[in-house]
Amino acid sequence: MPFGSFKAVLEDAKKNGYAVGQFNINNLEFTQAIVEVANEEGAPVILGASEGAIKYMGLEYTAAMAKVAAETSRVPIILHLDHGGSFNMVMKCIRAGWTSIMIDGSHYPFEENLTLTKKVVEACHAIGVDVEGELGRIGGVEDDLTVDAREASLVRPEEAKQFVEATGVDALAPAIGSAHGHYIGKPNLAFDRLAAVRDITGVPLVLHGGTGIPDEDIRQAISLGVCKINVNTENQSAFTDTIRAVFDKDKNVYDPRKYLGPGREAIKEAVRTKIRLFGSAGRY
Ligand SMILES: [Zn+2]
Repeated sequence: MPFGSFKAVLEDAKKNGYAVGQFNINNLEFTQAIVEVANEEGAPVILGASEGAIKYMGLEYTAAMAKVAAETSRVPIILHLDHGGSFNMVMKCIRAGWTSIMIDGSHYPFEENLTLTKKVVEACHAIGVDVEGELGRIGGVEDDLTVDAREASLVRPEEAKQFVEATGVDALAPAIGSAHGHYIGKPNLAFDRLAAVRDITGVPLVLHGGTGIPDEDIRQAISLGVCKINVNTENQSAFTDTIRAVFDKDKNVYDPRKYLGPGREAIKEAVRTKIRLFGSAGRY
């Protein structure tokens, strides 16, 4: 089938109390693994492509690969720009075939973020492209925040209401203390903020930094309005650890298929675990 509808899969997740996984793609093997397991599990999936990954794979290659993945799939597959940083990048992606995007203006002051996001939503909605925005600052785990800095990075529910109403975003990623990369200690999620943002905005919410968040916290986040969870680091680690093990076992291996194949299988099992945890298995 053609690309699925970002808005439609998230609305279904919101209505039925589960979350759709966004699994980022870094190459062909990631794309194949994610789409294969989505079909085996009957789960919709969002293929996330960051600006860095797009630069690595090439804009047209990324779009073409995802398009073939969607066309050969019986479950909805969505190609999503992850953390788009500018209006120009959004336009390039749409022209190449993307049907949903994230615009991340969270590093700007609130008013500038709102203005940029509103401009992107207006352009995207005019041509049927769905938009995710971000509010507050979702950090990297390398950011060792003080209590005050953590507090300042979290989403403010009253700002979320203003942001969603003014911009018309289809989904919102509110910063609630999750981070990109591997966590050093146990992640400390601000569930009270999450619930407040859900109640005040009503839009599907997105949890970034899904790697390493305990299962019970994932379930709680879903129960409080999270409809999309982003995972990348865990699949990268599963892929690389498996390839490293192949090399450890046989240092003379030279055929890329002999290590990329096992790496692809490892991604499949990591994605399968997440799909089942998120409750998105068997929905399609
Ligand atoms: Zn993210």
